[in-house]
Amino acid sequence: MEAHYFEIIRRALAREGFEAVLNDKYRIPDKLAAIRAGLGRYGKNSVVLTEKFGSCLMFVTVLTDAPLKPTGPAWEGDPCGGCDLCLKSCPTHAFPAPYKVSRKLCITNWLWGIPAPRDLRDKQENRLFGCGDCVRICPKNRKLEPRTSYPVRLEDVPDRPELIPLAAAEPEFFRKTFAAFPLRAGIDALRGNAVIALGNTADEAGIEPLRRTIHHKKLQIRAYSAWALGRIGGEEARNALREAKSGELERAVIEEIDMGLLPSPARH
Ligand code: SF4
Ligand code: SF4
Repeated sequence: MEAHYFEIIRRALAREGFEAVLNDKYRIPDKLAAIRAGLGRYGKNSVVLTEKFGSCLMFVTVLTDAPLKPTGPAWEGDPCGGCDLCLKSCPTHAFPAPYKVSRKLCITNWLWGIPAPRDLRDKQENRLFGCGDCVRICPKNRKLEPRTSYPVRLEDVPDRPELIPLAAAEPEFFRKTFAAFPLRAGIDALRGNAVIALGNTADEAGIEPLRRTIHHKKLQIRAYSAWALGRIGGEEARNALREAKSGELERAVIEEIDMGLLPSPARH
């Protein structure tokens, strides 16, 4: 989708005789570029707030030789005032102070494949991609209305894929079930999220797919699967953990298996 938007902008600039390139290889931070371009200001959740669209936005940075006039900063003064709803809403307390976010504690990072700390995996709940609690609660977003038309075609994919078939599914199933943007996190990241979600739902129906994912080639997915089986508990899950331990060579996964075999609540 990003490429479609870029193409719209590129063509508009090309008609005026200017060049435009995507930011990809220059890696200019998009949020900072948006602020410097005068599109918004940082909110206390470190997300860019704009007057018209709140913070429900994604930015794509385009570099151009067009002589654009500086528009000055958006919003004079502090856009948040005395509000601190986003800071209080975060399930992992990822905000050490206003305007500062600890990336290590932000669920959204884990959903992109950064390892989720064992003691906080329950906070991921059944999310498969994106958290955004600190954006949803923002009063600046309350009056926004869903768009009725888009300059690009929306993808025809479910917004709530079924969890049980997902965790152990073939890559092709992921490609059909997820939109292009979450797929950028990679199938392994999405599969890991599905595994954690199975652990958090703690439904015995999750044992069968986890029996398979605990043998996945990726260490992180095996470790998450051990954790998830431990959360589900019961004899069948414990048997799956014991079987997996007999063939596992990685210490990190063996430790997860051993913790999963501890009596509840120590294993959580
Ligand atoms: S996206 Fe979620 S986890 Fe990350 S800072 Fe916002 S509320 Fe916290
Ligand atoms: S929730 Fe409140 S403090 Fe947080 S970004 Fe929105 S207005 Fe600012």
